[in-house]
Amino acid sequence: MRTTVGIIGAGPAGLLLARLLHNAGIDSVVLESRDRGYVEQRQRAGILEQGTVDVLRAAGAGARMDREGLRHDGIELRFARRRHRIDFPALTGGRSVMVYAQTEVCKDLIALQLKEGGPLLFEAEALAVEGADTGSPRVRFRHEGREDVLECAYVVGCDGFWGVARKAVPEELTQVFERTYPFGWLGILADVPPSHDELVYARHDRGFALLSMRSPVVSRLYLQVPEGTDAESWSDEAIWDELERRFETDDDWRLARGPITAKSVTPMRSHVHEPMRHGRLFLAGDAAHIVPPTGAKGLNLAVGDVVTFARALEHRRDTGSDALLDAYSATCLRRVWQAERFSYEMTTLLHRPPGATPFEDRIQLARLERLASARAAEQDLAEGYTGFALE
Ligand SMILES: Cc1cc2nc3c(=O)[nH]c(=O)nc-3n(C[C@H](O)[C@H](O)[C@H](O)COP(=O)(O)OP(=O)(O)OC[C@H]3O[C@@H](n4cnc5c(N)ncnc54)[C@H](O)[C@@H]3O)c2cc1C
Repeated sequence: MRTTVGIIGAGPAGLLLARLLHNAGIDSVVLESRDRGYVEQRQRAGILEQGTVDVLRAAGAGARMDREGLRHDGIELRFARRRHRIDFPALTGGRSVMVYAQTEVCKDLIALQLKEGGPLLFEAEALAVEGADTGSPRVRFRHEGREDVLECAYVVGCDGFWGVARKAVPEELTQVFERTYPFGWLGILADVPPSHDELVYARHDRGFALLSMRSPVVSRLYLQVPEGTDAESWSDEAIWDELERRFETDDDWRLARGPITAKSVTPMRSHVHEPMRHGRLFLAGDAAHIVPPTGAKGLNLAVGDVVTFARALEHRRDTGSDALLDAYSATCLRRVWQAERFSYEMTTLLHRPPGATPFEDRIQLARLERLASARAAEQDLAEGYTGFALE
């Protein structure tokens, strides 16, 4: 098999890249190790920044998002039994975010790719990227019980944190920046209308909690739990009781309960792999960087990377210049590090690490008080949350 761009992974990064390239008249092949059902059901992100929404619309993949997505103009911070709303449009000159699940973004992009785009092979596992530093890189992969080779002009590793693409960058050329956190998120999906019409980020002495939603009838809620927690060790009742405690307020707000349909624990990690390019291999999305989910940045960063790559490749085709491809890693990393900073700050603002001292508790509360009383602090949060501009 031969193509211009070999894309490893059909998560949001790989699928959107295939769509952008198709729209630009550049051919690609997508290799995805899992089956279609798995990719379409994997519960993950749910918040799309304004810039991501604009990209999906421009790519012709925004119709269902515009019908079914929920535009959100703010979030609520909850601490010391009080509530404080951050008003995005007022603080950012009109920007907002969209609640539309990653599963739905993937379904829309898969349907478009299968109808109009180039080959998208499910259950096709990339085994290795070879010849990244030559003019003709190859992806060795296994599909339908046979090994095969995809010959490419460029390879883009969109294969997430556990993928193989990153391994093709020689260790001596790689720098990894990482932080793991001593807690994770126990996330549930529940068949119950959300108890608030915007996301609620709660800081509590017992730990962080987040109220979020997937639709007007499905809630998504999270609890900070110790690192290594087994989701099954929490009964449904214990989860609702704990959520109720952490969202408590002095007014008459109530948390509605409903049947829990999914339960899982996500570890929290910050991770950046530099550079994001080696020869003709480019890394995009979680393959190159991970953020803790508190800032809702992972999917949005993946979108930024593939837009940057697609533009750079179009520029090369139209002008013959490699300048934008050469700048790919540095261009993406500037935005990645702003998102890393933002996600780190949101995480340390709201989570209570094990063994936190009374001094650290007071500092955390003082940071929240500052957000509730100073427009400059609110503005900084609103700008970060609604998204950093693409260069
Ligand atoms: C619980 C949770 C909540 C989150 N919440 C948010 C949020 O609110 N907002 C936000 O922006 N982000 C959020 N994120 C992060 C977001 O989900 C990820 O950043 C996003 O999925 C990254 O997309 P990706 O395409 O780079 O990688 P992935 O979605 O991981 O896709 C990689 C794909 O590559 C495939 N693959 C792997 N190895 C191979 C191989 N060898 N061969 C072929 N295919 C391979 C995988 O099967 C997968 O389909 C959340 C993540 C989690 C876990």
